Amino acid sequence: MQQGTLWGHPKGLFILFFTELWERFSYYGMRAILVLYLTAETTDKINPGLGWTSKEALVLYGWYGMFVYFMGIFGGAIADKWLGQKKSVLYGGILIILGQFALAVEGMTTFYTGLVLLVCGVGLLKPNISTMVGGLYKTGDARRDTGFTIFYIGINIGAVLAPIIVGFYGEKVDWHLGFSLAGFGMIVGQIVYVYGRKYLTGVGELLKHSEEHAHLINQPLTKIEKDRMTVMFISFFIVMVFWAAYEQAGGLMNLYARDKIDRFVFGYEIPTSFFQSLHALYVVILGAPIAWFWIQWRKKGKESSSIFKMGVGSIIMSIGFVALMGAAYDVSVSALDKAPVYWLFLSYLLHVVAELSLSPVALSFITKLAPLKYASLMMGTYFAVVGLGNKLAGMLGEAAQDSGEMAIFAGIAITTFLLGVLILLFVKKLKALTHGAEDIDSKIVFVEPE
Ligand code: GLN
Repeated sequence: MQQGTLWGHPKGLFILFFTELWERFSYYGMRAILVLYLTAETTDKINPGLGWTSKEALVLYGWYGMFVYFMGIFGGAIADKWLGQKKSVLYGGILIILGQFALAVEGMTTFYTGLVLLVCGVGLLKPNISTMVGGLYKTGDARRDTGFTIFYIGINIGAVLAPIIVGFYGEKVDWHLGFSLAGFGMIVGQIVYVYGRKYLTGVGELLKHSEEHAHLINQPLTKIEKDRMTVMFISFFIVMVFWAAYEQAGGLMNLYARDKIDRFVFGYEIPTSFFQSLHALYVVILGAPIAWFWIQWRKKGKESSSIFKMGVGSIIMSIGFVALMGAAYDVSVSALDKAPVYWLFLSYLLHVVAELSLSPVALSFITKLAPLKYASLMMGTYFAVVGLGNKLAGMLGEAAQDSGEMAIFAGIAITTFLLGVLILLFVKKLKALTHGAEDIDSKIVFVEPE
């Protein structure tokens, strides 16, 4: 199954790492300039846009953010039924390239065609590449969670670079050049993927339609499988609430940073857009130490199930919003014009510590629990739930326009805190539903390369 290891992990992990790094470069690069392109004046002499109002642009952005993830359900189902994950990633990548280059051509027809191609392409690629990471590890392999964290760091390297490179050329030179660069990013990803397929032999293949498998596919789920599905759906709910809170970053927190935070540090004003890269930057810096922390934690024999980590993540997220309440308090009660910028750095930091305890963990969790015949569909459903979380985040941001930021920050802090506590209280029961899917198999040994 595996074709050699690198730093103690299957080499295929690094192929998926770089493919997804470039896919995310393409995704976040395009996302960084989308709203700016939509709202730029049509009469701008240097770099004309489409001249939409901010509201129109945000509505399209919101629907795009939802559909691009929601499509994962179909991407997952297609992989399970017809293509297998490996081909789905390849075809998804091709659709993304076509989509980015369609956006690069001026005109409304190509613009909408590009968006639809991107939604379909990401829907086909994103869940399936994540499932493939799980496919690199055998059941019970202790390295699986760390593997997902490494993969997650790749995602975020792409996310840090994209707004800087695509954002710069798109905004300052030409929007269409920006979209083309996003397309080139995906081409690099595809080259890595195609070249590296030899390290992915046996991973992400379609279940063969032999009699044996036809039998497996037609069989009803066993009690164990049903229990596992139940706990997965519970984890999906946690995930939806989490992303609804986290994704305030691009909307409400972004505007808050612009209008209500004093961003001067040593006489230099940090641009608002910098904070859009901060999450990803923190993930790249903190990914390894946090994964290390959880490994040490497990070695000490302490509770370290995925469900437990998700509960902890939810509580840390809540503390992140308490920090934002601190900022809102400074602005409203102490009648300061603007709140100090450390609140923002602190809150983003806590959001990322929470994210690392929850997001790669959830991906790994699904690959441990999903019945084989629904492996991709369950991953697709996870991303669909992420899409709903994104939409919910937008709705909360809109609500803040009437109720004020303090009420929304406090509401999110309380909800995520209570949810986290509830999970921790029921962790034993929830864990029982996994029927040992997370137990480490001590018989699995791997040899560190020289
Ligand atoms: N930032 C991560 C990514 O782009 C998480 C996305 C998500 O699951 N919401 O993959």
